[in-house]
Amino acid sequence: MKKSDKPVEPPAEFLARMRDLLGTEEYAAFRQAFEQPPRAGLRVNTLKISIPDFISIAPFSLAPVGRWEPAGFIVTDESRPGRHPYHDAGLYYLQEPSAMAAAALLSATPGERVLDLAAAPGGKATQLAALMAGSAPTAPASALRRALDEEGLLVANDVHAGRAHLLADNLARWGAVNVLVTQDEPQHLGSAFGPVFDRVLIDAPCSGEGMIRRRESLEWSEAIVAACARRQRGILAVAPDLLRPGGRLLYSTCTFAPEENEQVVADFLAERPDFQLMDALRSDEFGRGRPEWAVAPPDIAGQLSRAVRLWPHRFAGEGHFVALMERQPIESNAAEDAGRARLRPPSAEEMGLWREFADASLVVGIPDDRLHAHNGRLYLRPKTDPPAGRVRLVRYGLLLGEVRPGRFHPAHDLALALTVADAAQSVDRPPAHPQLAAYLSGAGLPETGPDGWVLMAVDGFGLGWGKRVGGRIKNHYPHYLRRR
Ligand code: SAM
Repeated sequence: MKKSDKPVEPPAEFLARMRDLLGTEEYAAFRQAFEQPPRAGLRVNTLKISIPDFISIAPFSLAPVGRWEPAGFIVTDESRPGRHPYHDAGLYYLQEPSAMAAAALLSATPGERVLDLAAAPGGKATQLAALMAGSAPTAPASALRRALDEEGLLVANDVHAGRAHLLADNLARWGAVNVLVTQDEPQHLGSAFGPVFDRVLIDAPCSGEGMIRRRESLEWSEAIVAACARRQRGILAVAPDLLRPGGRLLYSTCTFAPEENEQVVADFLAERPDFQLMDALRSDEFGRGRPEWAVAPPDIAGQLSRAVRLWPHRFAGEGHFVALMERQPIESNAAEDAGRARLRPPSAEEMGLWREFADASLVVGIPDDRLHAHNGRLYLRPKTDPPAGRVRLVRYGLLLGEVRPGRFHPAHDLALALTVADAAQSVDRPPAHPQLAAYLSGAGLPETGPDGWVLMAVDGFGLGWGKRVGGRIKNHYPHYLRRR
């Protein structure tokens, strides 16, 4: 979000292009939208809480984004949901309203294998994780307990190391357990995994024209648009290596430029006759793809209006383009099936230290055969195995913690997947309690009780760990998250 209230002046060359594309009348409405401030949005985490339960506790004023994403809301007051402890506990994700469309239109159902190829920082990946869990819980729920019995696997990838780690952090705050976070080139994932995914999301890096209102400035030129289109073609070309026949592919950008949208999709469809665009229009506030803005043979041009454009002058969000495609099914699916990646089970010593921790500190039971060890850390493996193949892993399942000399140290990620019902000891406070603010800023707390690990929670939802020794809780909230 831009820091000043003054609307950003879009580059003149960009505006001239848009005037040519839209024509005088629509351009006037489009231009007018840039005088309005961008809208803030949030998406409720239905892995942890139902939408009505969240609304009953939310201290913000909220308006639904539309029936196409029941968990999505526009924040209609001046509150700052990013500063609220419910955000630290992962009860929602801050996401501008239009950005909610892509994953909502791709959808995902329990048991599927889903790949988000350009996933950082994780807005759409968290949304897919929620869709993959099916319906929302009827009462505030432990994301860990729900995930233990669920089939299905989300692979979330980003090519940039720093961003892939941010993605892993955001998925951890979300309480997403059945997840593999990777940091690889799409081409490499294609050769490592093969066409085994039921759904693939490609939210491509783009020239970002649609986000101008949210930025301080935008570096824009036709050359940048052309370079983005080249990169997008390269990423989209990998989709057939990863998507199973009969599966669904969604390509999205946050730019208006036809070269990066209709044209990239048209060129892909021309290369791949086994893919077809599906009609993704789900709301009167969405616009259609514009065949007249691309060069394509008639059979492909005829499909382009099935894509969706979100415009700031038609909908209370920024600019987005979404194209949903289906890959033709074939009679016999020759795709490689899953094979268990080579995982190391914990050693006897690691298992002993984990058990000591789990027996003393957790109430929820984690099956031993779902644990794996990597670089001194223990993870809870998803029930569904990932496809075989060597990829650069950032996270495989839920990080439970680290084995240190003589003890097990629980991970912040584990706390975020728990509720107080899962922990042997907890300190549970309402959002405005001064002890919560103290905890989130890194302070220790005086609190009598038995020694040991304590789950710190807001309204029942895990926020992080503390360790009580002699009536004082030592703060284990990660340093990089602490409030100043
Ligand atoms: N889907 C994300 C979300 O909802 O939060 C936003 C994705 S952002 C539009 C595009 C991402 O693509 C960036 O995080 C960038 O690091 C990544 N990226 C850039 N080039 C890539 C490539 N060749 N393969 C995979 N990811 C790439």
